[in-house]
Amino acid sequence: MSKQNALARIERGALRVLGDNGRWKARFEIGSESSDRVYRVSFDTAQGCWVCSCMGCIRHGQCKHLTAMGLQGRKHGRDLEWIQHFQLQG
Ligand SMILES: [Zn+2]
Repeated sequence: MSKQNALARIERGALRVLGDNGRWKARFEIGSESSDRVYRVSFDTAQGCWVCSCMGCIRHGQCKHLTAMGLQGRKHGRDLEWIQHFQLQG
């Protein structure tokens, strides 16, 4: 799947799309399946990976939210394809 298609799919599944903000690219919000919590997902250009604000991602560097969208968290290291997509220094 191309990165553009992946972003389009993410945006369809998002509660709210927030766009880029400096270090954090392609920010969006998703709802918890089990509560009314809202989590924020973005590509962190400083770490070179996707981050989610849920506890699972903070503790483990990957969470079910990222996994469901086919995105890699810190646990898997820098994601060169997405770094290139955002035209960052690899
Ligand atoms: Zn999460």
